[in-house]
Amino acid sequence: MSLLNRPSRRKILKGATATAAGSLMPRSLLAAEKSDVIIMGAGFSGLKAAILLADEGLKVNVLEANNRVGGRAFTGDHVYGKPEFGASQIGPYYARVRDMADKLGVELSQGSNINAPYTFAIGGQLIRKEDWEGHTLNKTVGAERSVLPSAIQGFYMGRYNPFEGFDDWLEPEAAKLDIPLGQWLVEKGISEQGLELANDGLIAPDVWNVSLLTLLQEATRGRLMSGAGDSKGKDRFEQFAQASAHVVGGTSRLPEAMARYLGEGVLLNKIVTAIDMNGDGVDVSCLDGTRYQADFAITAIPFGPFRRISVTPSLEGEQAAAVRHMPYANNTQVHMRLKGAPFWEQDGMDASTWTDGPLNVVRQPFGYDGSRDRLVAVCVGKKGERLDQLPPKERGEFVVSEIERLRPSTKGKIEVTGVHSWPQYSFISGCRHSYGPGQVTRFAHDMIKPHHKLHFAGEHTRRLEIGMESAMESGERAAFEVLERAA
Ligand SMILES: Cc1cc2nc3c(=O)[nH]c(=O)nc-3n(C[C@H](O)[C@H](O)[C@H](O)COP(=O)(O)OP(=O)(O)OC[C@H]3O[C@@H](n4cnc5c(N)ncnc54)[C@H](O)[C@@H]3O)c2cc1C
Repeated sequence: MSLLNRPSRRKILKGATATAAGSLMPRSLLAAEKSDVIIMGAGFSGLKAAILLADEGLKVNVLEANNRVGGRAFTGDHVYGKPEFGASQIGPYYARVRDMADKLGVELSQGSNINAPYTFAIGGQLIRKEDWEGHTLNKTVGAERSVLPSAIQGFYMGRYNPFEGFDDWLEPEAAKLDIPLGQWLVEKGISEQGLELANDGLIAPDVWNVSLLTLLQEATRGRLMSGAGDSKGKDRFEQFAQASAHVVGGTSRLPEAMARYLGEGVLLNKIVTAIDMNGDGVDVSCLDGTRYQADFAITAIPFGPFRRISVTPSLEGEQAAAVRHMPYANNTQVHMRLKGAPFWEQDGMDASTWTDGPLNVVRQPFGYDGSRDRLVAVCVGKKGERLDQLPPKERGEFVVSEIERLRPSTKGKIEVTGVHSWPQYSFISGCRHSYGPGQVTRFAHDMIKPHHKLHFAGEHTRRLEIGMESAMESGERAAFEVLERAA
């Protein structure tokens, strides 16, 4: 019988639950639970794949290591102001994310936390954005001089990106651009200070250890955005924020709704430790001793944690190398509450700060209810690594003292409400994948090929999209691969 002709998802789920719940045996001694497809990881990519397959009548089991779904979509419900630790902005052209919200009745609202414009703190000195071009600390040259420090990389991408199609980055001729971003910027004539500033704002290890290709992919996709909203005088992040939407009540509400739709097929606290494909199908073991069997499996686990899972037969060649070596970028955050009179009214500068010091940005997000009583400091790259070396409490203290140094009008007005580090967060190990130079050519094609009955999803396997939409894009691709084989 074709998998696609099987009884409906809901009927099968009901049966499976009754068996497990009715048994008095410890779960570890139970026979492996069977389904058509096992999906590992309940972020947007895994959940999207699961919904597609379930809608086709397949029985899916989603195994999620954490005690919540969503992965890098994580609303800090336990922190003052419910900040987003991860994804928040739903781009204007995120068709899959918007369709999913619509299908599940999850409310979206236009706009997202606008964190810019910035005041710039360069060499410890506060500079208004309108003063940057003529400022004595602006050592950039030529056309760069009028570009804000936060926008310098975007300026070069906008000027020299040779790509037109969203998949140009994967074409064989693109391999010549699989070089360090820093090398390309130097070839294009970036100034010494321009290079330092580009490095400062980069969500990657640094300009020498990230492939230009991966950034060109994002820039090409980002061009779609330039028609949306008002781009005049705004940097890429501000423009994106204004043209985007957000999930009402927090981004986590969307993956939660996806999991509810899937019902008991989503299993939490299931840390996958081994994937065995020596038999007919796939046998997946979890740390708690439970086992799951299926005809096919999809891994939507980032490569950081996926490295720790034993896969038999082993991955080979460039696919194995990609899993072992794919770098992940850093993003560590300190969330704060503001007390007293608005500090930006006292110092007369824009409230958010972009700095070349030990922090990257200190944003003052606008609450959706109009409130302006929060701050978040974000460190990426090497700055993030350094901040993460401190224990969480000291991290908060360091950030507050640094903000007070840069913006003395904040003194005594900041209370730390929470810290969050993506590299240190269980089961993720970084904020996003970040191909090193040469790795797009080596890995991008091979690493997403099915390995026996195991298929690959996750934002790290994206082709055309970015962010949450790329996670859903990847889940869709992996689900279609399975459906084709299952037919
Ligand atoms: C700080 C930050 C800001 C962002 N902002 C935006 C934004 O504004 N807009 C946007 O579109 N995108 C944004 N993104 C990107 C977006 O969050 C991600 O692209 C997307 O959520 C990734 O989804 P995923 O399913 O590929 O991976 P994940 O969400 O990471 O899901 C992977 C899942 O696998 C699970 N897992 C790991 N190990 C195991 C194991 N052994 N067994 C079982 N399960 C396991 C994890 O717990 C996790 O739930 C942001 C990301 C970050 C970090």
